Formats: sequence, structure tokens, C-alpha cells
Amino acid sequence: MFVDSHCHLDRLDPATHGGSVAAALEAARGCDVRQFLAIAVSLDDVPTLAGIAREHADVAISAGVHPLQLLEREPDIDTIKEAAERFDAVAIGECGLDYHYLGKTPERVPSREVQRERFRRQLVAATELELPVIVHTRDAREDTLALIREHSDPAIGGVLHCFTEDLEMAREAVRHGFHISLSGIVTFRNAERLREVARRVPLDRLLIETDSPYLAPVPHRGKPNEPAWVVEVAECIAAERGISIEEVAMQTTANFFRLFRRAAPEVSAETREVLAHAGLV
Ligand SMILES: [Zn+2]
Ligand SMILES: [Zn+2]
Repeated sequence: MFVDSHCHLDRLDPATHGGSVAAALEAARGCDVRQFLAIAVSLDDVPTLAGIAREHADVAISAGVHPLQLLEREPDIDTIKEAAERFDAVAIGECGLDYHYLGKTPERVPSREVQRERFRRQLVAATELELPVIVHTRDAREDTLALIREHSDPAIGGVLHCFTEDLEMAREAVRHGFHISLSGIVTFRNAERLREVARRVPLDRLLIETDSPYLAPVPHRGKPNEPAWVVEVAECIAAERGISIEEVAMQTTANFFRLFRRAAPEVSAETREVLAHAGLV
């Protein structure tokens, strides 16, 4: 079985399965994708995501605020914690730093200072709740690592999602208890540097994701993405590492449930088998 460790189920494209989340999940299950983590980009998303999770036992959710989200008021630590607890989030995020657009359209993105303070609060909330963090980082390597080192707990850890940086940053994050999640970008023709990460990050620290509806993998590139296509990401990693896709599926699934401990309250017999094999139940 596969896990899509990062998808925006409340934002799937209307052209994907007629805009039906249930149909998109059913298609994914048909490809052996059996667990989904639906990711919030603002606290306003959380009730909607919780509604989806209530209808689908294999969907878990996060609560958090994306670094590029424009807000009228920044949530304080208690507000973040309250949203996560009230809606049974298994992680805080996605949160982090994205400086990519600051040089292009600075008026349309939160400043570095706002992003750093927002990220810091979410790291503190996660540590206090003992929840892992889902981190989005782009063009902000040093600040991301510094804040993680200062405010996150390596025993709880987190994930650098949709990872696009180099092996050195991956290793630094792994040293601090983090996992590395690869998306469809790893299948892109010009992503050789990322395939090096796919080959060399320890297998017990890798996760796979779609980041649906964004970033569809080859051969679907350019279309709106959907959770079923996490299989293409796993296939690419298997080919790069010279191991079977079953092994990638097994390991990334075990890694997922080890990191997101609260994501498995109603596991199926099949999931239980995978967890048992990994010594997790
Ligand atoms: Zn992201
Ligand atoms: Zn995302």
C-alpha cells in the first residue's frame, strides 16, 4: 500500500473526477493508495478538511498556516493549538518559509519577518502539542534550518515536504529528526539533483506525496494532480535506488505511521499488517 502524505483534498480541480473528493479517493484506493494526509494552508480550511476526514476513515488532517497566505490577523500560539486539538489534526502545517516571490511580487506575499514569526509560533505550538510539523521551504534554507533547530523537538520531528533543495540540506534536516518528502517533481526531466536526494536519503526517512492538485508527475505533467498518482513518485524512487516498488511502498508507509503517530486510529487489516511488519504495532 501507498500513502499520499500531502494532498490538498479541499482544492482538487473540478476536472478531476467531476470535482468529487470521494471519487478521487476511490480512484486512489484502486491504485493501492490507502492513506491520505489532507493539508491545511490556513486555519479556515481546517473545519472543511475535518468534514472530509469524518466521511473517510483513511483521511487524516493537519492544521496550520502556509507562509504565503495573506492574513488580516496572525493567529497566536493558543489559537493554532486550539484548531489542531478541536479538529483532531495529526500534524501542524503546512508552515514554513517561502522567500521565492519576495524578489518578484513582494507586495503580494508576507514579509520575511511575518513569515518567520508565523513559522516560529507553529513550531512552538507543535512542540507543545507533541505533534510533528509539515514544513514548506523555498529559497529560505538557512532561516528554515535555524528555526527548526531552535524550536522543534527532534524526538517528535516533522517533514520537509515537496522537497526541492539539495542533499546537504536534506541531511541537515534528517540529523534534526526530520523526514524528507518527495513529490512529482522528482520525475521531471530537469530534476537530476533531486533524484540524487532520492537515491541517497536514508530509506527510513523518506515519504512520498502528490501535493495535489499541484505538480503532477510524469507522465501526467501539466494536468491537475490527484492522490492516485503518488504511485508514479514511488516508481521513480524505486528505479533510482534499484529496489522494488513494493519496498518503497512498505518503507514509506511505515515511515508515515511512525512520524504521524495519531494518523492510524482506524487502520484496516492491511495497514495493520504493514505496521506489524515494521514493528510499529
Ligand atoms: Zn507546500
Ligand atoms: Zn501543499
